[in-house]
Amino acid sequence: MSADDQQLGGSTLAVHGGEPSVRSGRSITEPVVFSSTYPFENTAELHAFMQREVERPEEYGRYGNPTVAATEAKLAALEAGEADGGGCGAVLMASGMAAITTTLLAMLRAGQHVIFTADVYRKTRLFARSYLAKFGVEFDIVAPTLEAIEGAVRDTTRIIFTEAPTNPYLRVVDLEGVVALAKARRIKTIIDATFATPINMRPLSLGVDLVIHSTTKYLGGHNDLLGGVVIGKSGLVDAIREQVGTLGAVCDPHNAYLLSRGLKTLALRVERHNHSALALARVLEAHPKVAKVWYPLLESHQDYGHARRLLRGGGGVISFEVEGLEAGTRLVDALRVPKLAPSLGGVESLVEQPALMSFYDQGPEGRAALGIREGLIRYAVGIEDLADLRADLESGLAAL
Ligand code: PLP
Repeated sequence: MSADDQQLGGSTLAVHGGEPSVRSGRSITEPVVFSSTYPFENTAELHAFMQREVERPEEYGRYGNPTVAATEAKLAALEAGEADGGGCGAVLMASGMAAITTTLLAMLRAGQHVIFTADVYRKTRLFARSYLAKFGVEFDIVAPTLEAIEGAVRDTTRIIFTEAPTNPYLRVVDLEGVVALAKARRIKTIIDATFATPINMRPLSLGVDLVIHSTTKYLGGHNDLLGGVVIGKSGLVDAIREQVGTLGAVCDPHNAYLLSRGLKTLALRVERHNHSALALARVLEAHPKVAKVWYPLLESHQDYGHARRLLRGGGGVISFEVEGLEAGTRLVDALRVPKLAPSLGGVESLVEQPALMSFYDQGPEGRAALGIREGLIRYAVGIEDLADLRADLESGLAAL
């Protein structure tokens, strides 16, 4: 089935998207091809391959792998499900950060300018500060609002890089507004949609040029792989793929197989994450020990209007605030179901205090400057029974 099957639902695409109806060898699952090099029959075949006259695997593992290519086809079908025109491709890499950095390195040159929105993944901002600056690329990091982005546009702006929903405050930018602004100025738009997944949001259908996911999270879904993908029109994606061959952050075939297996249940899992997280967010919002809750589909969220318009579900991550760092620690240690760990998007619920995990190195003042509150807790809701998650959370909160 191909990305042209625009009428198909997310679950059908997750199961069948990008797959041939019958594979050679008749296997219903994707064969895993472990090979670093792909021999030629003879020099005539080599010559035909160089002229792109024959269809066969790339000649060397850094340029492609059949299992990786099959998983890329599924990812493109899933993400482009409703995009007009088709012609989309995907390129898988070794991690979400590999996808982000390789894409930016492929698309930028000295003298150009990039706009990042302020809540983009911390290491994306670190990459801008430590690498882009070194290569003569200028950048601004601005609030995730259309006004702030518009205010930062320069004649040299080549890319607007945003993320939605963001971490940890689940901000959702006015994506249609950003796309309209970018198109009028011939700027490319990139969104890291890791928290949204192709089930909850379809940025390509809104005109975004490239969508990036850390496949480590919901797409893999089982906390057993690291990966990243860039999806968009084939011309752009192929230019990035070429850079993977040079920079080398390839996805290995076993990893690609695990991902294609995890993808089959993506829609089911995301529906469960959406449902449980919204229910728990409401429980938290009504609780006297909770000062504030951030979840994009709560009416109280500052971007609720954008979220309602752009998202089919709010995803599995809830951020909330209790009274200070110690209270947060007591709650996290009292919880029995979620594991204390970074990351999100897997079947297991995970919980963390950003002050003691991803922002530990900043110290209290650094965190205050970044808007990371000491009593903040990030709960990445898994697919366990909602009743169990709720009872566990309520008993943890009762102990505060
Ligand atoms: N983008 C977002 C939104 C993330 O949350 C993460 C990781 O937490 C990344 C990118 C980086 O992905 P990876 O850990 O697969 O490199």
